[in-house]
Amino acid sequence: MTSARPPYIGRFAPSPTGPLHLGSLVAAMASYLDAKVHHGQWLVRIEDLDRDRNVAGVDQHILASLQRCGMQWDGEVTRQTLRTDLYQAALAQLEAAGAVYPCACSRKEIQDSQIRLGHASSALVYPGTCRNGLAAGKTARAVRLRTPQAPHRVLCFEDRWHGRVCQDLTAEVGDFVVRRADGFWAYQLAVVVDDGAQGVTDIVRGADLLDSTPRQIYLQALLGLPQPRYLHVPVVANADGEKLSKQTGAQAFDNGAPVAQLLESALLPAARFLGLDVQADSVEQFWRGAVPAWARLLEMRRA
Ligand code: GLU
Repeated sequence: MTSARPPYIGRFAPSPTGPLHLGSLVAAMASYLDAKVHHGQWLVRIEDLDRDRNVAGVDQHILASLQRCGMQWDGEVTRQTLRTDLYQAALAQLEAAGAVYPCACSRKEIQDSQIRLGHASSALVYPGTCRNGLAAGKTARAVRLRTPQAPHRVLCFEDRWHGRVCQDLTAEVGDFVVRRADGFWAYQLAVVVDDGAQGVTDIVRGADLLDSTPRQIYLQALLGLPQPRYLHVPVVANADGEKLSKQTGAQAFDNGAPVAQLLESALLPAARFLGLDVQADSVEQFWRGAVPAWARLLEMRRA
């Protein structure tokens, strides 16, 4: 018996921390094109859980930019702050399975432990201090998920752009946070719960999240959710090689720009960055060229 693949559902999941810019447009465009090539749905989800980083009004600005670019989403736009019951239920499921534990460590304590352990990497690997219970007098701050023990520590997946990607979750990440010390739900948990609840079959996003994917696949397995396919596109960098963002000098998207400027300063550069050869004088013509160009690019990368 062959099991039919569920219909394609893709998504773009911006955090409302700043307006759309070339870097986020590239991720939006790639996920939109992939959904169109597969005749699938394209959802938009506002990832607004980190209330300290949200900028008022930016969500509406991003949505207006997507529409200005001709990227119309399917269904209602969802917002993570309206879905916290789902994250609570997932945490309860993880607690019932004994997969999580309270952690009292501060960032400073974890940083100090890295120096003692002599880790050179800039990423903080949690040393497991609270894994077997809190030390006397310590108060729980965050909730962490236990990463797998040998022989299941290395998690691999097939990325549609990068090929096979593997990560030793325990050595490279360590037990990771699913509920933060400030009370906010952690991105890793929320994204997995939402993609699962929304039936997302295909995740297309920037390669800065490649490193988060094994954590998300591990969580999907624990929560009994299907594993989506992944495709991580390269990220746009500034002249200093830093990922383009509001903080590293990205130019905010101008929703009032005339079509010629929209094409010249946003759509065509984003398409070129993805390796798509598209010429266009209008937004409609742009997408008429970009969708088959993406299909050809995928074909070429498969070959
Ligand atoms: N909200 C994340 C961001 O803006 C993207 C999450 C994802 O695509 O999984 O970087």
